[in-house]
Amino acid sequence: MAKLVWQSAREHAQDVLDNYWDGRFPVKIAAISKAMGIMPYQASLSTELSGMIVKKPNEQARAYVEKSETETRRRFTLAHELGHYVERVDVSDDNDFSFVERREPGRYDLHEFYADEFAGALLMPEKPFMDMLHEGRSLIDIAARFGVSLDAARKRRERLKKNPPEKD
Ligand SMILES: [Zn+2]
Repeated sequence: MAKLVWQSAREHAQDVLDNYWDGRFPVKIAAISKAMGIMPYQASLSTELSGMIVKKPNEQARAYVEKSETETRRRFTLAHELGHYVERVDVSDDNDFSFVERREPGRYDLHEFYADEFAGALLMPEKPFMDMLHEGRSLIDIAARFGVSLDAARKRRERLKKNPPEKD
């Protein structure tokens, strides 16, 4: 049976964790990006953008995040860009693409959904996240542990509630 988008995003995030994560919190997203072959940059982007990723044939991919954003936002945006990369390169074998993140949410398509689901799963690994929820820890504690915004932690909780992890 074909995998659903969220399942594919979560599986690929777990693959990246299995390959590159040192098991510590918060997940070191810039180090993971480099290990995946994507150079992360902080830059002043044009005012309507919060991040972007660019991949050209025979060139290393580059991910940019807006440097004036808060650290938690920058972390999530970088993780989101890695999601676009994984979907294109690992899954589709695409070698020439770019994505930009606009502050004003306009289009929200399956690629954006994939990248967001991937980012949540990468920054808030499923098992430790669920463990904290079951222990009754507050979202504030959870967000602090994973180095994400309160919004991102809330979204991850909603996503895991809507599509619960499959039991092995
Ligand atoms: Zn995006």
